[in-house]
Amino acid sequence: MELDPRTFIVTTTLAAFVMMIVFFAQARSFPESIRGFKIWGFALLVGTLAAALLAARDIIPDSLSVVLGNGLLALSLFLMIAAIATFHDHPIPWKLPALCILFVVLAMIYSLAPEHSQKLRTTTASAGNMVLIGIGAWIAFKGSGVRKPQFGIYFTGGCFIVMTMVCFARLVTLLAGNQEYAGLLSESPMQRIYLASYSLNVLLVSVGFSIMGHEKLVENYRALASHDELTGLYNRRRFIESAVHEVQRAERYKRDISLILIDIDNFKAINDTYGHQAGDAVIKDIAGVMRQNFRETDLYGRYGGEEFIALLPETQLADAVALSERIRAMVNQNVVEFEDSKITYCASFGVVQGSTIKTLDQLVAHADKALYRAKNAGKNRVEIFSDNA
Ligand code: GH3
Ligand code: MG
Ligand code: MG
Repeated sequence: MELDPRTFIVTTTLAAFVMMIVFFAQARSFPESIRGFKIWGFALLVGTLAAALLAARDIIPDSLSVVLGNGLLALSLFLMIAAIATFHDHPIPWKLPALCILFVVLAMIYSLAPEHSQKLRTTTASAGNMVLIGIGAWIAFKGSGVRKPQFGIYFTGGCFIVMTMVCFARLVTLLAGNQEYAGLLSESPMQRIYLASYSLNVLLVSVGFSIMGHEKLVENYRALASHDELTGLYNRRRFIESAVHEVQRAERYKRDISLILIDIDNFKAINDTYGHQAGDAVIKDIAGVMRQNFRETDLYGRYGGEEFIALLPETQLADAVALSERIRAMVNQNVVEFEDSKITYCASFGVVQGSTIKTLDQLVAHADKALYRAKNAGKNRVEIFSDNA
């Protein structure tokens, strides 16, 4: 198949231009927590301009095609790096990229003089781009700060790595080759591979970045749907979802399981005295104490306004009571500072063990009875459910 390099640049550039529209649209529709898409859109815009200038080699003056074209190409790579850094909430690495862009532009200007080898031009442009693309790979993986990246990051980072390798191969071929000029639109196989993979890669990393955005979006909504916004604990829906299975398992395999209901005492009075926001601070405080005390295998969450719930697999009543008592004592000693107020508070606990229990509903109902007794007996205490109560 004969593929004219100029035609190839033009078609892939058109595709990149169309993708730019997608990115600006995504930047508008994504929530504020997902950032970097507008920058990526600009990267494609600048890249499109660069490609147009490069493809017009021999048609427009070299100062435009060579200097501006290569400079804009390097700038578009930097914008991609900036977009990924912004997406990851990572500071934008700009020093090395700025040096690369400067290096490319100066080398291009230098190469314009008729007595200078054009090999120098291609070599320096390749070297500059290789470093920029390498930084792109680095920021895609390292910038995320997570240990197990999702598919989109692997895809985007992977494409950048492949492209860095292609750039490297091209650089080596250029330096080792003895033909004098392997210019942009030359017919050499290496140049064709470079051109094809570069153009294709712009599309691939764009797809990759788009996937990164969608994965983050899904992740955010998942967290939103299962967590309580104020405390970050599981919400009632999410708690029940897992707790139902946990109770079934305990029932089937005759394992110990305990449930604790917690309700802050006189919470209305806290709200009335110090204000709703102070009440929120108290809710956050008790959530922090819960987090400190429950184990990884325990399931707990915010059950309602100032009510919390915990399901403890493999836990006998005595241990659940001891844990409740510890949380009760800690909460009772805590002082919540809100604006100028120092707020003390306490909570009541209802505990039940699931030895003869068949369902989560029954467990909760029994714990609720125990909690009711704790309230009636003067609050700030732990009560156990018993049949004759
Ligand atoms: P008791 O000791 O018997 O538990 O009395 P209480 O005042 O704690 O109980 P009650 O259930 O009557 O009051 C709960 C209050 O919690 C009522 C509601 O306005 C308030 N509340 C519910 N959700 C929130 C919230 O997210 N933030 C704040 N600040 N208050 C909330
Ligand atoms: Mg209540
Ligand atoms: Mg209450």
